[in-house]
Amino acid sequence: MYDNAANWTCLPDPTKPCTDWGYPAYVINATMTEHVKAGVDFGGTVSEPRDASGHDFLGRSVAPGSLSIWMHHYDNVEFHAGSFQLDGMESLFKGDSVSCGGGTSMYSLYKETDKHKTTVVGGGAKSVSVGGYILGGGHGMLSPDYGLAADNVIEMEVVTPLGDVLIANKGSNNDLYWALLGGGGSTFGVVTRFTIKAHPTPQLQFVTFIAATSPSNPMAADIVTFLASQFPGLNDAGLRGYGFLTMSGFDMGVEGVPKEWSGIAGAFTVVDRSAQYTESLLTKLNNTLLESSNGTGSVTVLPIQTYDTFMEYFDERFDAGNCGVTTLLKSRLLDRRALTHDLDALRAALIAATNVAGMIHFYPLAGKAVHEAANGGRDNSVNPGWRSAYVHALISTSFQPFNRTAEKDTQALLEEAWEPMVQLTPGMGSYINEAAYFEDNPAETFWGDNYERLLQIKRKVDPMDHLSSFSIRSGHAHPIQGPIYSAFRTRSSFGLSRPLHEPRAPHYPRHNPKSLNMPLFGKSNKFKANPPKIRVEKVTVSRSASKPPATSAVKSAVPSSNRSLGSNSARASPKPASLRQESHSPYPSSSDERKRKRAVKTPSARASPAVVERPAFDKDSDAEEDDGWLTLETRKRQRKAREEDSSRQLKNERSFEDGYGKLEYIHAVDVASLECKCVPVMGATEDDVAIELQYPCLGPREKFQLVWAKDKIDAVEASTRIVQLIAENYLNEAEAEPFTNQSAGLIRRLEKASNRNVQDLNGFKAALEEYNRTLLDLVEDGIIAKNLENRHELPRHLVAFILDQIYDRTVAPSVELLSKYENGTDYVYGELLHPFISKILVDDLKMTSKQVMVDLGSGVGNVVLQAALEIGCESFGCEMMENACNMAEAQQKEFEARCVLWGIQPGAVRLERGDFRKNAVITDALKRADVVLVNNKAFTSQLNDDLVRMFLDLKSSCKIVSLKSFVADSSYNINDVGSTILDAEEKTYPEGYVSWTNAGGSYYISTRK
Ligand SMILES: Cc1cc2nc3c(=O)[nH]c(=O)nc-3n(C[C@H](O)[C@H](O)[C@H](O)COP(=O)(O)OP(=O)(O)OC[C@H]3O[C@@H](n4cnc5c(N)ncnc54)[C@H](O)[C@@H]3O)c2cc1C
Repeated sequence: MYDNAANWTCLPDPTKPCTDWGYPAYVINATMTEHVKAGVDFGGTVSEPRDASGHDFLGRSVAPGSLSIWMHHYDNVEFHAGSFQLDGMESLFKGDSVSCGGGTSMYSLYKETDKHKTTVVGGGAKSVSVGGYILGGGHGMLSPDYGLAADNVIEMEVVTPLGDVLIANKGSNNDLYWALLGGGGSTFGVVTRFTIKAHPTPQLQFVTFIAATSPSNPMAADIVTFLASQFPGLNDAGLRGYGFLTMSGFDMGVEGVPKEWSGIAGAFTVVDRSAQYTESLLTKLNNTLLESSNGTGSVTVLPIQTYDTFMEYFDERFDAGNCGVTTLLKSRLLDRRALTHDLDALRAALIAATNVAGMIHFYPLAGKAVHEAANGGRDNSVNPGWRSAYVHALISTSFQPFNRTAEKDTQALLEEAWEPMVQLTPGMGSYINEAAYFEDNPAETFWGDNYERLLQIKRKVDPMDHLSSFSIRSGHAHPIQGPIYSAFRTRSSFGLSRPLHEPRAPHYPRHNPKSLNMPLFGKSNKFKANPPKIRVEKVTVSRSASKPPATSAVKSAVPSSNRSLGSNSARASPKPASLRQESHSPYPSSSDERKRKRAVKTPSARASPAVVERPAFDKDSDAEEDDGWLTLETRKRQRKAREEDSSRQLKNERSFEDGYGKLEYIHAVDVASLECKCVPVMGATEDDVAIELQYPCLGPREKFQLVWAKDKIDAVEASTRIVQLIAENYLNEAEAEPFTNQSAGLIRRLEKASNRNVQDLNGFKAALEEYNRTLLDLVEDGIIAKNLENRHELPRHLVAFILDQIYDRTVAPSVELLSKYENGTDYVYGELLHPFISKILVDDLKMTSKQVMVDLGSGVGNVVLQAALEIGCESFGCEMMENACNMAEAQQKEFEARCVLWGIQPGAVRLERGDFRKNAVITDALKRADVVLVNNKAFTSQLNDDLVRMFLDLKSSCKIVSLKSFVADSSYNINDVGSTILDAEEKTYPEGYVSWTNAGGSYYISTRK
């Protein structure tokens, strides 16, 4: 790919000298395992290892004078429909998979799997081979949906450096399996066969957009930073692809986009969603950008194109990459924290990098599935940074070949330019397959915590260090230096074998995205964008009538004298308030204490396919859930959107009375401890795993253990989050300072001590102890109680956190009991999730604490508890399923105790058992109800009819929220009682709002006439 990676041997430039400096001494054209083994056996006698060549940016396949095993023709592919027998394991791998030779090109794999209406996670170039690509990790357009390529490998055949031919999978040679997948090519053996999961081919919406402002805008850098900060949310909402970020972009020849611009552009896709969904996602980005930039930035979208299969998309949009470039690059994995936590630091990093490289390649190709794949990364050795990354970012700069001084200067320049980005992303590291070969500390940068184990395995598998190109050597990570064997391939695409008469590939200037492997709008590029100057659509700017720009939270945050962009005052303070960071929390979302396990599904309640998909947090709601997507203004908007309910008393008197030292509740240690087979974290021993945490009350501290297990409470994360929530919500700025101080505050200390690379147990415990004392002092001094007296509402993320704590301790440990329901009867279980309940009760119905809410079919009581906590209203529920009732009872008990712990007075809760048609308490409550909620999607028609009759007793103007309308179409049924007594309005909810499906759907708000 890069001339410099091939030692400038025979460049595709007839004016440059041609030497044999880059060639191996021996080459084996391997097409079967025996060839590879023979090469490995022979290689043991070669004494002077030198270079070869291949596809690799770091030159790992370059070892002049060495023995080279050429895998290019080792490319047989075989599809396995339905199942695959893993070697040495009793169980089958269930699902489609594909086996291929160790030198197979991605394109061959795509072609074969496409024949079976499936595809694999693969890279963005036809010629990249599975070998180096998978062994280094392997990202692609589908990785946010299915994990990295390495996460998808179920088995490999390997010739080890000692000449053994082994099968590596989860059951056989597991250490080798773990090490190969992420440890990097040519380090642990030559893989002769990969077997990889195949996924049903998705439909893709392809979209090219440019989100930009003018470089002369004094806010340009802030706007670019703001755009970058949107990517975790955009990625969560389904946007993935290849972008680039620039402070001073070049003319892209797209109508409507200025010749010079600052912003983020790129070729993206949205997988298995509609074009409308994709468009509304970008509409939302546009609206937010317009608001945040005082109308000076906008998003230009080229027509969205739908591809029915991955193959159709790949064939049209990709080509072989460029070659013949002398370039160095630096890269880094960026997590949510890096992108949203400290926007000043992010801005500085972006400016430093773009000053030198012109642009940053900005690939949102990680996200959810990468975070969760391979058992959260524990099943393989890819850089752990991937497990929290959202964006893989790279910069590159070209220089003249054969000029070592220029190479050194370029290296120094890149290092300096990238340093702020490295500082911004402690512990994240880089992706080995697209990185610098001159990293100071490759062990940590490429493998983080996985390095030590890799090294142990390397010592066992390759005691003589036969395979050692920029990878794990017994002793230390080593930059490129003489591998004896280097599995290399694909001469056809790159420097070494290019015919000399071919014109030399151009040197791309710094500001040109073609300098790496991601050109956007040119010809013969890796990604073909829609041709410029075809129909260009600006996405429609839909502002909600209730929120005109002049009164938006964004603008009102800026003094009117500063609003004029051209004015001096604006220049003196170019950073708009809207772009400033709002919270010290690294978790913009309502993060719960552990990954939520709400697998409960009601198959009968699937959303209709006719439902129009919309982005998760559409702007028609003024109070979206704050989940990280467009977070900067969300909380402000929420606050503005809701009239404060001054009659709500937040303070729970019991929390501050003596005598609550004996409050009974379920401590975290009761559900996540060594006894429950969790493992200690932060190097703690059995004797020092215990910690305690003070809540804003006089009640007893909660007991945790510093342990970890899948789906269990994560004490480190939970305790840090609790400290943050208390600092943010219970204290004023001055009081919160000891917690939030950026350099020495308690939150910072907790984060630092728990950082993956620090793991300072004593430091963590000391910070927690200090927090406990400080908070208790504030409680005893009456400060917390006084602050609560002056507040009348709770932020959504705090409500969600408290409810999740309750659920995690009561429902989650036996959640499977809920799935024992009879489908097609009234005994069906499914939950509305927190954001949906907030949307209904707060945004749609604007409930107040003086009102009454009744949930008919209340399950484990989630809606009832949320209404009581979030609104403070009187809340009733009734449920007939035995298991759900038992859990609801447990939740209510824990709820009452936790409200005391958090110092919050909820509304009165009453949860009834049995048939709500026959329950006197419910009959009575309905007469007083202001809101009746009924998740009737899966109710029988008899039950729905009975409900309508019950609604006859509701008071006028009472609202009924349901998932199926009670009003029949009048043209079919003129005697319909529902339409006689109710006015119904259909609304839609976005994806992620209910437990039984990820899709969005309809719901109805009816008013009793
Ligand atoms: C045009 C282009 C596009 C790219 N796109 C992507 C992308 O979309 N996503 C992504 O993640 N990366 C991408 N990359 C980076 C790519 O993952 C690396 O360059 C990778 O090293 C290529 O692997 P290879 O086998 O093709 O190359 P090679 O240079 O042949 O091999 C790379 C390394 O792997 C070793 N190796 C190769 N085969 C085997 C084997 N069978 N067993 C053991 N070791 C082996 C080699 O010895 C060498 O150390 C791209 C690179 C280029 C040039």
